[in-house]
Amino acid sequence: MSKKVIEKEEAPAEEQEKEEVRPPKVEKAKTEKKKKEERGVHALYKIEGEKVTRLRPTCERCGPGYFMANNQDRYTCGHCGFTRYKQAEK
Ligand SMILES: [Zn+2]
Repeated sequence: MSKKVIEKEEAPAEEQEKEEVRPPKVEKAKTEKKKKEERGVHALYKIEGEKVTRLRPTCERCGPGYFMANNQDRYTCGHCGFTRYKQAEK
């Protein structure tokens, strides 16, 4: 039997660089559907130039430093539970 050895096409000796150059992973923003209100005290302040304005009213009972939560038609203090209804001003 004289089998003819079929020469396989060998890969060129010079292998390609082993370090695979992977394309940068494109991470999908999973949970960020809606950007919710900013969290933290910094969200309660707005700095305009040298002025600092507070975006929420402070609690009348607790005094300045206690911000009230902004609800649809009222503000509520999370500290003492004080609720103040928004006045419909036009
Ligand atoms: Zn309060």
